[in-house]
Amino acid sequence: MQNQSLIEADRDHLIHPVSSFHDHEARGVRLLQSAKGARVTDGEGRELIDGFAGLWCVNAGYGHESIIAAATEQMRRLPYATGYFDLGSEPAIRLASALAMRAPGDLNRVYFTLGGSDAVDSTIRFIRYYWHAKGQPGRDQFISVASGYHGSSTMGAGLTALPAFHHGFGLPLDWQHKIASHDLYRNPLRDDPAALIAASVAELTATVERLGPDRVAAFYVEPIQGSGGVLVPPAGWLRAMRDRCRDLGILFVADEVITGFGRTGPLFACEDEGIVPDLMTLAKGLTSGYVPMGAVMMTEEVYQTIAGGAGSRAVGHGHTYSAHPVSAAVALEVLALYEGGLLDNGRIMGARLQAGLAGLSDHPLVGDVRGRGMLAAVELVTDKVKKTPLPPEMSPATRLFDRAWQAGLVLRSFPQGVFGYAPPLCCTAEDIDAIVDRTRQVLDQTLDDPEIR
Ligand code: PMP
Repeated sequence: MQNQSLIEADRDHLIHPVSSFHDHEARGVRLLQSAKGARVTDGEGRELIDGFAGLWCVNAGYGHESIIAAATEQMRRLPYATGYFDLGSEPAIRLASALAMRAPGDLNRVYFTLGGSDAVDSTIRFIRYYWHAKGQPGRDQFISVASGYHGSSTMGAGLTALPAFHHGFGLPLDWQHKIASHDLYRNPLRDDPAALIAASVAELTATVERLGPDRVAAFYVEPIQGSGGVLVPPAGWLRAMRDRCRDLGILFVADEVITGFGRTGPLFACEDEGIVPDLMTLAKGLTSGYVPMGAVMMTEEVYQTIAGGAGSRAVGHGHTYSAHPVSAAVALEVLALYEGGLLDNGRIMGARLQAGLAGLSDHPLVGDVRGRGMLAAVELVTDKVKKTPLPPEMSPATRLFDRAWQAGLVLRSFPQGVFGYAPPLCCTAEDIDAIVDRTRQVLDQTLDDPEIR
């Protein structure tokens, strides 16, 4: 098909995720046709740097022959095996063991899903089952954090705290509650991290007390909030929240769908604070986006409680494509790449990215630069002292995305004018410098925008 007919067919038939259907039809699709390393080629043959690794997922970069070979070989040998009826396949078992060996503490048990949303959904089901098994079925209230993102299943989207995921869907559900975000930029406690941590701990405690100390099942958190705009909590926040959950006797779930697999430096961001969650969700970097796969990891205690509660009854939770052998073979190869130098390169390039973006702080439009490792955001404002967001009338998200695209840079453009960065860990120094230079170019062009004066 020619590009023009593809664009028309897209407009007529393909529903895009998280988009205004009408606005998308008006704008039309931007075609991507191929990619290599950290570079993608669009429908017109222009090469761009992918500063967002697809959707925070292509951590290894595009076009790895060894990943392609692992998938091809597995497809040839055994393209599908169910995990039902006690069946299984070698790559799935090897992957489960490899993850158990590397995950913090005794997160030894793995349930595989197709992506992050069904991983989150699975945790909710497992946690309900866990409390039933413990003889406390009344623990059915769940708490998460404002601006958080926990996927797009009905239950997960209710834990998500972004208005678009609730509006028109009858969410959140009445057992889903939020505490305030640790967002630092406009926070009066910005310069007093200890006070901010204490405030979050106090709010979690008060929420549990309000709901009833024997009613709360779990607390969900991203080590760094991604879709909310790359919001980094102060050092010590995650550990303090983990400790308080233990004191309160509720489960602590770390949603590492974005932060896992080297995004912040170590294999899992929980390692940044030396904590062990009760359950952890993974996806994206697990297969580096080459094929779909997610995972739930749980501690021995959570697993044994569920197992004991079920006895000889089946735990009725399953997916046809759980532990898909092709996805597992890909994930094993991706894991080998992480450990064969990709994590190290990501750490070096992450430091370069953070330093480069910090160098943009002197730009008149830059209000905040934040991030860790290969995860970052630059927040644009029209007044640095008052921290005034870009005017909504200029549709900052689409305008800035478009401008970056014209400059040869793919990045995430959040509403209100926040750039999000999550480049592949395979980036070279040249790639990182180009990401920073092209960002400055976009900032300069935006400064000339008549609508922001
Ligand atoms: N949790 C988090 C923290 C995420 O960032 C995402 C996806 N951006 C999800 C869950 C859902 O994952 P998926 O889109 O693979 O369903």
